[in-house]
Amino acid sequence: MNIQRENFMDAVRWTGRAYFSDWASTTTGAIDVQNPANGEVIASVGFGSAQDIVRAATEARAAQKAWAAKPAAERAQILNKAADILEENGPELIDWIMRESGSTEPKAAIEINHGALFIRQAATLATMPTGLLLPSMDDRSNSARRVPHGVVGVISPFNFPLVLSLRSIAPALVLGNAVVHKPDPRTPISGGFIIARIFEEAGLPKGVFHVVPGGAEAGEALCQDPNIAMISFTGSARGGSKVGEVAGRHLKKVQLELGGKNALVILDDADLDIAASNAAWGCYLHQGQICMATGLVLVDQKIANDIAQRLAEKANHLPVGDPSSRQVALGPIISDGQIAGIQKIVDDAVQKGAKLLAGGTHDGRFYKATVLSGVKPGMLAFDEEVFGPVACIASFETDEEAVELANRSEYGLAAGVISKNLARAMAVGNQLNVGQLHINDQTVNGGPYAPFGGRGKSGNGCRMGGPADIEEFTQWQWVSVKDQATAYPF
Ligand code: NAD
Repeated sequence: MNIQRENFMDAVRWTGRAYFSDWASTTTGAIDVQNPANGEVIASVGFGSAQDIVRAATEARAAQKAWAAKPAAERAQILNKAADILEENGPELIDWIMRESGSTEPKAAIEINHGALFIRQAATLATMPTGLLLPSMDDRSNSARRVPHGVVGVISPFNFPLVLSLRSIAPALVLGNAVVHKPDPRTPISGGFIIARIFEEAGLPKGVFHVVPGGAEAGEALCQDPNIAMISFTGSARGGSKVGEVAGRHLKKVQLELGGKNALVILDDADLDIAASNAAWGCYLHQGQICMATGLVLVDQKIANDIAQRLAEKANHLPVGDPSSRQVALGPIISDGQIAGIQKIVDDAVQKGAKLLAGGTHDGRFYKATVLSGVKPGMLAFDEEVFGPVACIASFETDEEAVELANRSEYGLAAGVISKNLARAMAVGNQLNVGQLHINDQTVNGGPYAPFGGRGKSGNGCRMGGPADIEEFTQWQWVSVKDQATAYPF
């Protein structure tokens, strides 16, 4: 099979529209999508209102039962076909991801590769929910089985738009749910229309999957809609808290994957060059716009200056600019507002006594790789998620102090510990309050086989991926069977 086309994402099909049971206009009209590197308008998509969400949710509810009734292997086959189509059209799709989300080519390629992996892993779940035979208090037979929730509403962010949408959509679908998806309106193609196109070509029945680009209003409409049973949200703690509140008021199951302030702990026996390279990757990949980005480089004071110098040297040599040149390591920041937020954090640190060893300035949307040393609690650079290319270095005197500093954060997504002494690194790691612990690695690690999620302000205790997906996207149903109905005292 080769469904590769000259122009798989042919814009004639979808310009000014959203994806319901077919491509159609929204009630509020269209919005432009801009390339964050140069402001160029690259697409126009239908912008969804609350009314459009009602339409999508109603159509999805109507289609869900028949989808869930299909043999599991058939659902899996459609997913696997979608993964093939994604990969076969990779070169064209990478270009969309680069232009829409300011990604470098390697980062955009990771989205295609991991996106396909997430879909294929989800496909394996189709035949896994096996159920239980339960003891009975009388002569009936008792069992429990996993059933889909119904319609799942997915809300995703701009930074890894394809992967972070697919990691909810693919398992939700394969386990028999229908999905109404609201991507970030800044990345509706990579985070939505590419997914609609691959499932359209793979033969997913009409009505089972909808993509409605929109903002907070459309997102909140999803959380209120009586046809939606569950919300799967990935985004900021502020957005997640609002989503949790509204979904809770309407008694929906809600999965929240939120921000992070992730510590990379470097112990005094670490190889300096390797540790600095880990820190640079964790801090600067995709301009630091990753929930798992290394938000705090915690270094033993004996080697803190050595690491800071090495990191500054790397930062000064990382080219920043338009990814279309294919000559840069860092692309643009998604918005002017986000640039202002990064600058505020850097200025606050410098004003409170941190040393600026590299970067600290920007040219329009292009923020330079930045190194701050001497970062301390009470500085925004220590306390808050930056979501920009800033290495915030803080030092510690003992391993106990490293644990204490790392655990000060209200977030608890990921952490890394680097040391030549595995037992010592594990002893530190075991005390960190995080959902993902990486020994001898930096903090940015993700994939379809492991349960991913955070503690504290990083989420609501849910996990995505691997064994967690069946738990999250289905629920138990108890079935008791008597041979025949029997009389009761009434
Ligand atoms: P955001 O919360 O502003 O937006 C994310 C999505 O939520 C978008 O689709 C947006 O339109 C929608 N949204 C915003 N407010 C809403 C509301 N009140 N109701 C319903 N929907 C709403 O997030 P952002 O700042 O654009 O994205 C970056 C944040 O996402 C960072 O904090 C980052 O750490 C986090 N993130 C977390 C993960 C994870 O897996 N834990 C992954 C990527 C990003």
